[in-house]
Amino acid sequence: MLTPNMNYANLKDSYLFYNIAQKTAAYLEKNPDKRLYRMGIGDVSLPLCDAVIKALHEAVEDQASAKTFHGYMPECGAPFLREAIANYYREKGVCLKNDEVFVSSGASDELGDILDLFDKSSDALVIEPAYPAYVDANVIAGRNIIHLASGEENGFLPLPDQNTNADIIYLCSPNNPTGAVFNREQLQQWVDYANRVQAVILFDAAYEAFIEQPDLPHSIFELEGARTCAIEICSLSKTAGFTGTRLGYTVIPKQLVRKGMCLHDMWVRNRTTKTNGVSYIIQKGAAAIFTPEGQQQIKKNIQVYKENAACLMKTLDSLGIWYCGGKNAPYIWLKCPNGMSSWEFFDYLLQEVQVVGTPGEGFGKCGEGFFRFSTFGSPEDTQEAARRLADLLKK
Ligand code: PLP
Repeated sequence: MLTPNMNYANLKDSYLFYNIAQKTAAYLEKNPDKRLYRMGIGDVSLPLCDAVIKALHEAVEDQASAKTFHGYMPECGAPFLREAIANYYREKGVCLKNDEVFVSSGASDELGDILDLFDKSSDALVIEPAYPAYVDANVIAGRNIIHLASGEENGFLPLPDQNTNADIIYLCSPNNPTGAVFNREQLQQWVDYANRVQAVILFDAAYEAFIEQPDLPHSIFELEGARTCAIEICSLSKTAGFTGTRLGYTVIPKQLVRKGMCLHDMWVRNRTTKTNGVSYIIQKGAAAIFTPEGQQQIKKNIQVYKENAACLMKTLDSLGIWYCGGKNAPYIWLKCPNGMSSWEFFDYLLQEVQVVGTPGEGFGKCGEGFFRFSTFGSPEDTQEAARRLADLLKK
């Protein structure tokens, strides 16, 4: 009889978004005249920018004629897009070969698939609170997970010490859910650690485009030595509103070698076995983001979310509430006032002012007592939510 992957039985149910949906639905049923201000969503609200829409239309037209039609695309990405992404890195001072960039259909897919490169016996370190996919993908793979708690005392940016003992290290900077960003010195410590113990860092840079402080690293490859210990996984979902269009990219340097195996070459082999590439149309749309026009347009959209963040931060500052994130990230991670638990604060905001956020406890135990606001909502809703928050908590 077939034995299924029994590791699935070890997955913990994630009640987070289910509970939020249940609680908000129950509230609306009881209070049909009320509307909610949703500051919990991780999805974007602005549409694709004009440069992308134009490129998508043109690519659709290409597919209508035998002369310009594209069938299967190269598994690791279209050369025009790999080059555009490598140039984007070069502009940031990071020198990559075009074929070190792999085009994917999103960071979530890659965060799971990339684990094919590692033996089951390798230990995966996840800094918590964390984006839930890191833990679940490793549970499915049957891998041992080291949960490294972070907190207010280290600004949710823990560093390796003599007790750290990991093979795969997840770093997410700017972080979801905390919005915290590693500075160069901190990130260098992780790079040095990984090189010393021959671990591999999986650097999730999904929110790099939200960094505004010039001294903070957008890419781990800005750090000395990262080419021999890191893989970077990125996404256009939040950078350019591609959550429903789907495109991401992964950078694997050719110098990343473990036990004589070149991880770049292994990934080429993996992709050519397991995918037939991302659609031509979507890759054309994505390439438009890396043109000067596209960059200008996506920055305008990001600015809208940044103004949402500024509005919420101003309110929290005026209330004297501790938080991190917001400045260089689209998430604000705050300490629940008056010692409330994450879910108590959730209920309080829902019942009193109809504002919905995300309880920190849902991102790992050490998120208890904290709360996440997303800045991806509309400016109108964000401003109203901030006003309601200020009125409620000033009392
Ligand atoms: N990584 C982080 C930290 C995220 O927050 C998200 C989405 O919210 C992803 C990856 C997934 O991105 P994608 O839409 O490209 O799958």
